[in-house]
Amino acid sequence: MKETAMPDFPVVFGICLDAEALWLAINPENAAKPVLLSHGSYAVREGLAPLLALLERHGVKATFFVPGITADRYPEAVLAIHRAGHELGSHGANHRTPVGLTLAEERAELLGGIEALQRVTGERPVTWRSPSWEWSANTLDLLLAEGVTVSTNFHDAVRPYRHLRDGKPVDLVELPVHWHLADAPFFIHGGRMERILRTPREVEILWQEEFAATHAWPGAFFHLTLHVQLIGHPGRLAMLDRLIGFMKAHAGTRFVTSRDLAAEIP
Ligand SMILES: [Zn+2]
Repeated sequence: MKETAMPDFPVVFGICLDAEALWLAINPENAAKPVLLSHGSYAVREGLAPLLALLERHGVKATFFVPGITADRYPEAVLAIHRAGHELGSHGANHRTPVGLTLAEERAELLGGIEALQRVTGERPVTWRSPSWEWSANTLDLLLAEGVTVSTNFHDAVRPYRHLRDGKPVDLVELPVHWHLADAPFFIHGGRMERILRTPREVEILWQEEFAATHAWPGAFFHLTLHVQLIGHPGRLAMLDRLIGFMKAHAGTRFVTSRDLAAEIP
């Protein structure tokens, strides 16, 4: 009888803990809107603890992206993530998009984010997510110069790959992301983001369908993007709980951090 190879299906959770930084970056005048900022504060006040408990219960290690301004404001939250064994990835100093920044501004934003996390955990993050999922023309050189070895920003594949410069592979792995595998398009409303909110059940069906189909693609992985302020609500956490159970029912599913998956890419 022919032996069937055990499938291997890595699953990465990239979870943003933006807190107020998201709203402040959209418009600095939001600093004068405490109610709008409270959408972000929810992440630390309510969402993080049950999300960490859920991940712990399922044995899931995730990658949490925390902007520098949020790490400075909530070091205990960063430490709780770190002590639970999750990876911390950098997410800029002030959640500013690299697009339109000068080279010096972009470097300061990148380094500010990295150093803020290093001050709290003692470890220098190697994974970076652009706050807008955008790169500038300078980004590749900056990431390579500052020792960032994992990027989670491009939308061009369902398989991890290594970036090239001048046609040659460099020390930077991409773990591609997709808007339909992110919570924000379905669960954010307020500020300048007036979207139609979706029910957890609708999103659960979408993510289950994508998961099952992606599982059948050789070499693919499943990359879910979450925000603590959005997913950390009771009904949505219950959906995530069911979704992880669904994932575990598929042969070969394993939960891995961005850094650890990138280390497997030749
Ligand atoms: Zn963010």
